Amino acid sequence: MIDYHLHGNFCGHGSGELEEYVEEALRKGFVEIGFSAHLPRVDRPDPYHAMVEEDLPRYVELVLSLRERFRGSIAIKLGIEADFFDGYEEAIGRLLDAHPFDYVFGSIHFLDGWHFSSRAGRERYDREDPDRVFPRYFALLECMVRSGLFDIAAHPDIIRKESFMPSFPLDGYYKRFAGLLVRYGMAVEVNTAGVRRGAGTPYPERLFLETCHDAGVPVTLGSDAHRPGDVGRDFKDAFALLAELGIDEVAVFESRRFSMRPIRFPA
Ligand SMILES: [Zn+2]
Ligand SMILES: [Zn+2]
Repeated sequence: MIDYHLHGNFCGHGSGELEEYVEEALRKGFVEIGFSAHLPRVDRPDPYHAMVEEDLPRYVELVLSLRERFRGSIAIKLGIEADFFDGYEEAIGRLLDAHPFDYVFGSIHFLDGWHFSSRAGRERYDREDPDRVFPRYFALLECMVRSGLFDIAAHPDIIRKESFMPSFPLDGYYKRFAGLLVRYGMAVEVNTAGVRRGAGTPYPERLFLETCHDAGVPVTLGSDAHRPGDVGRDFKDAFALLAELGIDEVAVFESRRFSMRPIRFPA
């Protein structure tokens, strides 16, 4: 069992020492985990959302030292979650190239200045029209893939809530996006934070995941834990979904290359 989406106290909205996440993962029987703190924002500093740039070398060193300390009991990967900002590709690439990451999540948390995934962004959902938002969101998601900067599309329909879906079907968007992932050699993340953040199910929703799987896109698995207790949270929902779709392998990464490993579904 793996959990590739762990945060910690490097950003203002996360808590807990990284070591506490490792201990929690060991208690829960994980064989491999990956840290994916928020890469510093390249458009402007934002210590609530992401680490500040001075902290990036310290984060990298800390994860690498934990890897050594826990070698033999759990594999620890050095990942990062990078926001995509259109027009800032070079700045993002510079930060990513400076460190020996095993994998890089590409993420969208901001749309036209709306930090929709944050606590402060919640009330704006009531004022936005999903029929207008989803096409803009998918356009940005496609730019993100085309940038060629990332290995895994994190929580690809994170904009979704149970009460916030467009009136038209999304299958055409899903197909185009899945095709792009294949073209750019990217994986997609099954992220269980959707269960606890108002989407009702893991990201991406079933049809979206099925479309990616049918296109041949590899899958990774993450809880998006922002506190140690959330490591592996709601994984039973993810396992149920994966089993239903006949997905029995996950992608594991090293030095930004992946290989496939069989999923051991818990009894
Ligand atoms: Zn976060
Ligand atoms: Zn995220």
